Amino acid sequence: MTHIITSLCLRDSGCVEVCPVECIVPGTPQEKYPWFYIDPDTCIDCGACIPECPYNAIFVEDEVPDPYVAEGGEYISRVGLTGHYENTDHHGNPVVLETAKQLEAGEEVDLTEDIQPNYDYFDGGPGYE
Ligand code: SF4
Ligand code: SF4
Repeated sequence: MTHIITSLCLRDSGCVEVCPVECIVPGTPQEKYPWFYIDPDTCIDCGACIPECPYNAIFVEDEVPDPYVAEGGEYISRVGLTGHYENTDHHGNPVVLETAKQLEAGEEVDLTEDIQPNYDYFDGGPGYE
């Protein structure tokens, strides 16, 4: 079991600072890995990151919603999407995403699709060491 960051992540970076085992990293390159990733082998499932996320993007792995039902107005960011998102992160640094989509109220998204990319990022992907 691990915690999973989903495509609701908008790179705010607040979760990184509270993780006691420093297992949350920003995806790079951003256009290929649009959100932040949790190393499943290092995560101790403490749950400290969940309340830190202003976009409610983090879930226990077996609680990742399918479907996630949008409140309306929130964004997801996934490879292949072409919408523009712009904001500042936890530190006031600019965040610009060109792989975003704003959700409409009631729109349903399968966030379980975001589980495997978390594993891939560390299993031979850019987060692999
Ligand atoms: S706090 Fe939320 S939006 Fe920010 S990096 Fe972590 S998961 Fe992503
Ligand atoms: S659950 Fe705890 S150990 Fe796992 S990523 Fe979140 S803060 Fe880090």
